[in-house]
Amino acid sequence: MCDADERLDRAPVPRGEAPIAGASTVFGRRWPLAPPWTAAAGVCAGLALVALVDPREQPLSPPCPFRLTTGWWCPFCGGTRAASRLVRGDVGAALRYNGFVVALVPIVLAFWLGWAVPGRVAMLDRLRSRSAAWGRALLVLAVCFTLVRNLPFASGWLRFPGA
Ligand SMILES: [Zn+2]
Repeated sequence: MCDADERLDRAPVPRGEAPIAGASTVFGRRWPLAPPWTAAAGVCAGLALVALVDPREQPLSPPCPFRLTTGWWCPFCGGTRAASRLVRGDVGAALRYNGFVVALVPIVLAFWLGWAVPGRVAMLDRLRSRSAAWGRALLVLAVCFTLVRNLPFASGWLRFPGA
């Protein structure tokens, strides 16, 4: 368990409110769900949205500020469309929209599991204890993916929108 989790566990419940099992206090406010489950609920809501509304037909987010200012695809451009294809089971199309985002799915899932159920799976705890190294590695990969996908001769899953 990291220091932040220990601080959350020790956070006082606001006066006059009974503690709820599994609830957390963050920034002095009580949350009905523990942070990992709140994050999971948010991600599930987003996935439900891209399952119901096809972002290829109806944009769900504002234009990418990186793309607007530089003219380059950022490492996450096409990520919403990739998620939309993933929830429909079309992994090939998801890879063509954004292979980096698709590759992040199992990594993020592993980190989330280590966060949601700490101390249950030794491998996930080790992974979580190396989160800084993983963060640096993913940052380097994101920069490399951004550079490669913007090369004039990039094609296939390296190029957005996967031409
Ligand atoms: Zn972008």
